[in-house]
Amino acid sequence: MDIQTVGIVGAGQMGNGIAHVMSLAGYDVMLNDISGDALAAAMATIDRNLERQVSREKISAEEKSDAVGRIKTTQKLTDLGQTDLVIEAATERETVKQAIFEDLLPHLQPHTILTSNTSSISITRLASRTDRPEKFMGFHFMNPVPVMQLVELIRGIATDAETFDACAAVVEKLGKTAATAEDFPAFIVNRILMPMINEAVYTLYEGVGSVKSIDSSMKLGANHPMGPLELADFIGLDTCLAIMNVLHDGLADTKYRPCPLLTKYVEAGWLGRKSQRGFYDYRGDTPVPTR
Ligand code: NAD
Repeated sequence: MDIQTVGIVGAGQMGNGIAHVMSLAGYDVMLNDISGDALAAAMATIDRNLERQVSREKISAEEKSDAVGRIKTTQKLTDLGQTDLVIEAATERETVKQAIFEDLLPHLQPHTILTSNTSSISITRLASRTDRPEKFMGFHFMNPVPVMQLVELIRGIATDAETFDACAAVVEKLGKTAATAEDFPAFIVNRILMPMINEAVYTLYEGVGSVKSIDSSMKLGANHPMGPLELADFIGLDTCLAIMNVLHDGLADTKYRPCPLLTKYVEAGWLGRKSQRGFYDYRGDTPVPTR
């Protein structure tokens, strides 16, 4: 199946990154959001990020203007009906995603592949509520999309080989690398990464080390580019907690219990970089550990 047009639902941090890489790879993109402000902000971000690539001589000015020209924005979800591939990247709430697919279904072409960029919601369950579970799968980009090399491709129980191959070909055209995951809670990257971050929070909670010593240990002792607590702040502590809860509920194993200190930070509204405070305080010139 030859995919030429891509519809993206949700123009937040993931949606704008997906639109960026898709348009640069030559796909015609229809970017949708319920918020006009989000669409305007997404186009400004895409423009800025493409401009950075031009200034670093990674792409030419012409490639940038061609890419921008291939992106259309719309607040009408039904405008995505004519696309070959839909990537849903709206807010991580199952009811929101279900409503989007329900509204979109009557307008889709028979061949359109439906995918979700969800980090944690069951692909099989989302697919089962559509008219095309065999043409439904997970298309999970990493943040920030233009920088990160990996895409997890997640098969639902019903996903057929043609759908999978078509999505794998898109990943290849993007110049990225696909990892295939079966549809179990948090897939591969977060299944491994989040328990490590949660364990780092336990290490802090139990007083084994300070924020600084835990992050230095993993950077200098395990060669990780960022410490686990620094990384947790970057991802968002609410997101980390939500993913731990998905693992805990979905796999019913106490080894996934979220650390009470992680819960406490989230309850305090200390969500990491986005709220200026998490395991570090970002309100000054340099981040200062909060414990
Ligand atoms: P975000 O909050 O930055 O953006 C979500 C966007 O969806 C918002 O602009 C919002 O207006 C829009 N939206 C909400 N309801 C909508 C609707 N009914 N129709 C159209 N648009 C709607 O969120 P994000 O970080 O970009 O995450 C989006 C998805 O990507 C989630 O499923 C998340 O789990 C997944 N994801 C996030 C990350 C990450 O690091 N942030 C990484 C991988 C996957």
